[in-house]
Amino acid sequence: MSCLFCKIIEGTIPAQAVYQDELAFAFSDINPKAPVHLLIVPREHIASLNDANNDKRELLGHLLWVAADIAEKKGLGKGYRVVVNTGEDGGQTVDHLHLHMLGGRPLTWPPG
Ligand code: 5GP
Ligand code: ZN
Repeated sequence: MSCLFCKIIEGTIPAQAVYQDELAFAFSDINPKAPVHLLIVPREHIASLNDANNDKRELLGHLLWVAADIAEKKGLGKGYRVVVNTGEDGGQTVDHLHLHMLGGRPLTWPPG
């Protein structure tokens, strides 16, 4: 498997892990855009949100639950943002489904 995030999940490529369970893995983004910038990924390789079929609905919900759980534990009580860049226009550069979790400063809207 040549996928970068699969390699991070299996430990071949190092990353700063912040959360893991049997379904999900979360780690710090290598190029943070906010004081807190994490990536939450399913352990299973799913290329993008568009590749998550019906049988992944529970897993998708779990990933959002992980975001809220991390927010509580990291003290992001003032708020945060969860983003899923999807496809070319969405700015997705790594083809393994991931939630960006950004926080620790006020975030502007809309994104570019
Ligand atoms: P995308 O552009 O696909 O939405 O997000 C990919 C994210 O992965 C980017 O924010 C980028 O900084 C991050 N990233 C790329 N390569 C690595 C890496 O080797 N390690 C970590 N921790 N993050 C990475
Ligand atoms: Zn992968």
